[in-house]
Amino acid sequence: MQWAEAGVDRQQVDVLVIGGGGGGMAAAAAAAECGRKVQLVEKADKLGGTTSGWSIGSISATNTPHQLRRCILDNPQHHFEDMGLFKTRRAKSDNPALRRLLTDNVTETFCWLVSLGIEFAGPMPEPPHRKPRMHTVMPNSRAYAYHVGRYVRKLGVHIRLRSRAVELVRDGQRVIGAVVECDGRRVTILAKATVLATGDFSGSAELKERFVSKELAAVDPINVDSTGDGLRLGIAVGGRVLNGDVLLGPEMRFVPPRNNLIRMIPPWRFVGQAMRWSFENLPPSILRPFVMSFMTTALAPTPALFAEGAILVNKRGERFVDEGPGAALALAAQPEKIGYILLDSALARKFSAWPNYISTAPGIAYAYIDDYRRNRKDIFHSASSLEALADRLGMSRSALSASLATARAARGGIDTGPDASGAWYALGPVKSYIVLTDGGLAVNERLQVLDAADRPIDGLYAAGSAGQGGVLLQGHGHHIGWAFTSGRLAGRHAAFETDREASASATVGA
Ligand SMILES: Cc1cc2nc3c(=O)[nH]c(=O)nc-3n(C[C@H](O)[C@H](O)[C@H](O)COP(=O)(O)OP(=O)(O)OC[C@H]3O[C@@H](n4cnc5c(N)ncnc54)[C@H](O)[C@@H]3O)c2cc1C
Repeated sequence: MQWAEAGVDRQQVDVLVIGGGGGGMAAAAAAAECGRKVQLVEKADKLGGTTSGWSIGSISATNTPHQLRRCILDNPQHHFEDMGLFKTRRAKSDNPALRRLLTDNVTETFCWLVSLGIEFAGPMPEPPHRKPRMHTVMPNSRAYAYHVGRYVRKLGVHIRLRSRAVELVRDGQRVIGAVVECDGRRVTILAKATVLATGDFSGSAELKERFVSKELAAVDPINVDSTGDGLRLGIAVGGRVLNGDVLLGPEMRFVPPRNNLIRMIPPWRFVGQAMRWSFENLPPSILRPFVMSFMTTALAPTPALFAEGAILVNKRGERFVDEGPGAALALAAQPEKIGYILLDSALARKFSAWPNYISTAPGIAYAYIDDYRRNRKDIFHSASSLEALADRLGMSRSALSASLATARAARGGIDTGPDASGAWYALGPVKSYIVLTDGGLAVNERLQVLDAADRPIDGLYAAGSAGQGGVLLQGHGHHIGWAFTSGRLAGRHAAFETDREASASATVGA
């Protein structure tokens, strides 16, 4: 056995869960609910991952108490059908069996999250879903780590933070645990079943280059901790990745504010309840200032800005790309990877009211230029002339006016001149990000990791993004739905693996 040389320390558990985001916390809870001895290792210094640290927190589900309260008659079959109507990021194969697993089980997952104290507002509509299904966590996605983490601890799961799994341990072909680096020590944790729940690989230049392209490897992730470790560990024991080139990004987003007020709200239940009540009962005019502080945090500027004449320049004031679909990728190659969106006063006025918004979170609200002026003084810039704006942003005056001239020449009919006020505006910095990657290990409906011949690798399960298994999760709320749902199912199956393993050894011993 490899572990004899690998570690200086050894422990034995029933189920080892690697990664403490949505998928991992759910897997650990489910295995512990089955009475198993569970250890969860998380490389960061707290639980949560992208699920709780970065996401908006929406989850799409049918037949929820929230739908029923609003007399919305819906069902998993329609959810299954509607998910297939979302435009794929690329023409890719889907995994209908896993999509079915999600739509059939996400209601139970949702009710479980509610039972742990998590509050949701909604559901909100999001076409092509035929019914409103998107539920938004209150007050923010930190509620997931707070409530699910508390539950996992209560169940007695041994949580090991700042502990990174670096290698799976095998006995023959069977996975029997992992080597974990913790405080400079290597610890071998032996387990009857191991669940990989390490998130996606948007933060790994190496894996992005391998599965997508060299150019995209240079684009920053939103969560640098999403290093695709689970994929590497799974591949090393014979697993394979499906839909490796499907991802969300590169996408331009405004850089986040230094103090994100929404994320500072404590994730306690009564706070969530108060926020939910406010969303459901207060008039939009009272809620708007609050909602806008969220809407202007780190969302994407609408491509319509560029279609209507806004110009993208780098920090030197140079226009480096036409503002079409390739702009986000080109931005990642600019100095400090940052850019500014330049608008004249006529355009700024146009983006002051519906239907011309600067950013949106679908179903929640729309933010206009004045919302940025009020809420994001750090990225809203204005001046009475183009030269004054260049000075304010530390750009070369001549570069900025040359950028304007080339944009005007290239765009022909589009008028990019200011109105009588003569004012100019810039929004930025904007950066390009890979928001998430959809490539995950091939898994079956029991969430067992599959080898090249589609045979389960004994003892090994995967959940969340690491175990996405080729299912397309477009539309809001399906990734988190998948993380928690696949995590719970993987945890349960892993718990039963411990019985199978016990009966197999009994048979051998007999
Ligand atoms: C800005 C943003 C907004 C989003 N909003 C939504 C939304 O509203 N709704 C939605 O459905 N989806 C959303 N998503 C996507 C969604 O958040 C993720 O797909 C989902 O949370 C992934 O869950 P996970 O459990 O697989 O991974 P994660 O939550 O990322 O958890 C993985 C964990 O594994 C740990 N880990 C990694 N490697 C190791 C290792 N070797 N050893 C130990 N631990 C390790 C990581 O530190 C991390 O804590 C959003 C994503 C982003 C970036």
